[in-house]
Amino acid sequence: MQLSLGSDPRTDLLRRTQAALTGEYGRIVRPPDKRRDPVWTLVQGVIGARSKTRVSNDSTDRLLADYGSWEAVAQAPLEELVEALANQTFPEMSARRLKDCLTAIIEQRGAADLRHLSNLATEEAMAWLETLPGVARKISAQVMNTSTFDRRTMVIEGHHRRIMQRMGLVPAKADTLRAYNALMPIFPEEWSAADMDEHHLLLKKLGQSHCRPSRMACEACPVRPDCETGKAQDVA
Ligand code: SF4
Repeated sequence: MQLSLGSDPRTDLLRRTQAALTGEYGRIVRPPDKRRDPVWTLVQGVIGARSKTRVSNDSTDRLLADYGSWEAVAQAPLEELVEALANQTFPEMSARRLKDCLTAIIEQRGAADLRHLSNLATEEAMAWLETLPGVARKISAQVMNTSTFDRRTMVIEGHHRRIMQRMGLVPAKADTLRAYNALMPIFPEEWSAADMDEHHLLLKKLGQSHCRPSRMACEACPVRPDCETGKAQDVA
């Protein structure tokens, strides 16, 4: 017998996780003025591999301020973009991906403009974004959820995936796409786009504080009662 979404124990676990994390860290709500234009959000994601969010935000703002438009960024010589992205962890790769991605949008849409996505269902819009160079599930979800599109989907980056794996909700070797496909059907139906964003931000916080890649502080972790890895330590 198939369980309905509401009765899935993993859904209740996610609700408890959200409550435990807001109890630990307080609410983390993205203010409306931090919901940026979808193209800005896409650029921030495309240049952001292994870079801190703050650094990528600054680089994205600076690119737009210096060139005046995303079309002008697309036309800039590659070497110039590498220099402009010197603060990113991988400037050459970021510059190449950025140029290729913006050029592909301009070729298809006539301008660096993603407004047509607002007419598509979220999964359809994400599939379109994932045809662009340098764009996979994390970035497509980021554009749809955290920009002014404000759609109900989940951004899954390294911290998020690692914690879900340790908690036992995602297979140990799952990549981002597999983790996304495992989690999306079990998120509480009542969670809005903003709730999904907050869940991601809270997990990121947990990944930076208690559940680090190489060091886990399970004894003080707020989600330990629901975590397979944390509970296993009780019987070890
Ligand atoms: S209990 Fe340990 S393994 Fe589980 S989420 Fe917390 S820190 Fe990570």
